[in-house]
Amino acid sequence: MIPFNKPYSTGLELTYISDALSTGKISGNGKYTKKCQDFFETKYGFKKTLLTTSCTDALEMAALLIGIEPGDEVIMPSYTFVSTANAFALRGAKIVFADSRPDHPGIFEESIELLITKNTKAIVPVHYAGVACDMDVIMDIANRHNLYVIEDAAQAIDSFYIGKDGIKRALGSIGHLSCFSFHETKNIISGEGGMLVINHEPFLRRAEIIWEKGTDRAAFFRGEVDKYGWVDIGSSFLPSEIIAAFLFAQLENLEKIQKRRLYLWEMYYQNLEEYSLLTKIRLPKIPNFATNNAHMFYLVCKNVDQRTKIIEALKNEGILAVFHYVSLHSSKYFGTKHDGRKLMNTDNYSDCLLRLPMYYELSDLEVLKITEIIKKVK
Ligand SMILES: *Cc1c(COP(=O)(O)O)cnc(C)c1O
Repeated sequence: MIPFNKPYSTGLELTYISDALSTGKISGNGKYTKKCQDFFETKYGFKKTLLTTSCTDALEMAALLIGIEPGDEVIMPSYTFVSTANAFALRGAKIVFADSRPDHPGIFEESIELLITKNTKAIVPVHYAGVACDMDVIMDIANRHNLYVIEDAAQAIDSFYIGKDGIKRALGSIGHLSCFSFHETKNIISGEGGMLVINHEPFLRRAEIIWEKGTDRAAFFRGEVDKYGWVDIGSSFLPSEIIAAFLFAQLENLEKIQKRRLYLWEMYYQNLEEYSLLTKIRLPKIPNFATNNAHMFYLVCKNVDQRTKIIEALKNEGILAVFHYVSLHSSKYFGTKHDGRKLMNTDNYSDCLLRLPMYYELSDLEVLKITEIIKKVK
């Protein structure tokens, strides 16, 4: 039996959790939260980070921070997880779905500008499979139309964008705000978990207040105010130290985890390259402005039937491959709210994309077994 995903524990998690317990404080914003936030800020050049209990929460914080009000419009790809849209729908925004690129499931940058109206407030690019959207193009559109950019970087830890200036920037460091996930299905995990990145200076103080239930408690503990109270709207977005301690153990092993995942990804690619040419099944494409963080290995089949055949062949050998993302514009909740535009690339990925098992403990032999089974499907 080969599962689709298997959460990896580095062995240090329990040590750090007991250390957190021994400090006598396991609620949020303590020693391990700071250690994790420092790690991300130092390693990736994020201006300020706040751990959250999920990427969903980080996205909801982003919607609060940019002041979404009923009637505001937010542009995002239809081919994404529901949380990307829910965060803004919860504040009353009208969601405007864009198509995916023909060569990659990420947002089709060229289609964005046509969707902008006087009510548009933000663009939310999703770095699908940890592969960058063309951020120069997106930031240029946003700057010209005075829009916020919120990166959904849920899958994009340790991945980069190479701009026209040749500079390599970490995904999550480019938009005004960015959101990461440490859900057990991502590269670096804490069960449930996430992070908000604040790159836009004017959001710094308010982000902390929203994070701490609408109070200035964080400033109080730094000694900046002599008492704390209710100063703005907010909620409980911060994780406990137990989650942060778990996450820190993962961060200490980030390079090891990434190296193994990249090795497995390359192995899939090489084993399937010739087959893909023969069958016209597409392998993941990494545009030259993006890097690969091996979050996901997927196939884009020719049609639903071919995908079903591969899923069945794998299932017969006890291997679980999955597909995802019913296009949000045609989902049960949103279908009737969509403006009727056809999003052809999005629908194609919904019908034809198949994700193969990808996790740290997957063995070389298992990848070989998976690819041999696939190659027998004509
Ligand atoms: C996983 C994921 C999310 C949600 O992350 P959670 O931490 O589970 O809330 C949001 N957007 C994308 C693109 C994701 O892949």
